[in-house]
Amino acid sequence: MGEAFIERIEAVIVDLPTIRPHLLSMAVMRKQTMVIVRLFCSDGIEGLGEATTIGGLSYGDESPEGMKLTIDTYVAPLLQGKPAGSANALMALLNYHIQGNYFVKSALETAVLDAQGKRLGVPVAALLGGAITQTLPVLWTLASGDTTKDIQEAQNLISSGRHHTFKLKIGRNAPKTDIAHVSAIKATLGSDIKVTVDVNQAWSEGVAKQGIAQLQEAGIDLIEQPIIKSNFEGLARLTHYFRVPIMADEAAGTVADAFKLAKLGGGSVFALKIAKSGGLINIQKQAAIALGAGISLYGGTMLEGTIGTVASAQVFSTLPNLDWGTELFGPLLLTDDIVKKRVTYANGGLEIPQGPGLGLELDLNQVEKYKRK
Ligand SMILES: [Mg+2]
Repeated sequence: MGEAFIERIEAVIVDLPTIRPHLLSMAVMRKQTMVIVRLFCSDGIEGLGEATTIGGLSYGDESPEGMKLTIDTYVAPLLQGKPAGSANALMALLNYHIQGNYFVKSALETAVLDAQGKRLGVPVAALLGGAITQTLPVLWTLASGDTTKDIQEAQNLISSGRHHTFKLKIGRNAPKTDIAHVSAIKATLGSDIKVTVDVNQAWSEGVAKQGIAQLQEAGIDLIEQPIIKSNFEGLARLTHYFRVPIMADEAAGTVADAFKLAKLGGGSVFALKIAKSGGLINIQKQAAIALGAGISLYGGTMLEGTIGTVASAQVFSTLPNLDWGTELFGPLLLTDDIVKKRVTYANGGLEIPQGPGLGLELDLNQVEKYKRK
């Protein structure tokens, strides 16, 4: 048997229903749209990848519709006929010919690694040096915007054992309103339950200085991306000024961003996402920078469905400094799925599938049902 090569690449847009509207400072999500990549190889193996955005173009630079166009027009012709086994070689080729487009590259690299894992009969994590753990802690985002409802939701999830850390999305309202909302939730849940906030860049540096002082006083455990992503120096000033940890999310996009932030001291925690960094292998490069700089890590999500979530979990499971756990709850927002067997959440964590590749199988009837026509 000769070396397998890439025969064909298909990009499918699917719209999946969600359990409730998800409120962020810049968007309200009522369904989840994802681009599913199917990479067909000459040895009959199919690799899967996913690229998902938050609220169309509200969060990142790439849209589902644009990603499909990029894959169909530029990526597929470039990779067709190339040997399928080396993600490094294929990504080098993509990076040489295609600028930016990190979400697309992440989905493609995932599909290549999934196919190679299936070919060798090992999980994707094994291709990345091996997993440290088979389960990852997962927090839950309280995003109803209503204080009483959020407290009720948190208490139910604590007693069912599904989650014991909660994140609040703020920045949509006046800081005073948001801070009162968050402080009331933290006060009710108590000191044993971690409560973090994500401002999603909504505050100016001046507002952040006052807001974070009050959040720190209220006992909030972590402050995520309080100011605009381009203000690396401002993030460094806030990190030095406060004792509550400050996390870089939108700012910590690429490997180069991680390096610049680490040099400045912008953030004592980095939120890593495969879509921002352009793939799983780049996550390990960012993690190495963080490790060298003494920066803690957090496994972030672009609210991916099951394929993107498991891809993220595979690489996060290889990281030794994932001190803040993960937010890999994307599949829990979906009321239906396109994979045959969904992932399991229990005891505050996600159980990572251990089958070859991502350990997932597409349900083609479901893909047909939710595929954008
Ligand atoms: Mg965030």
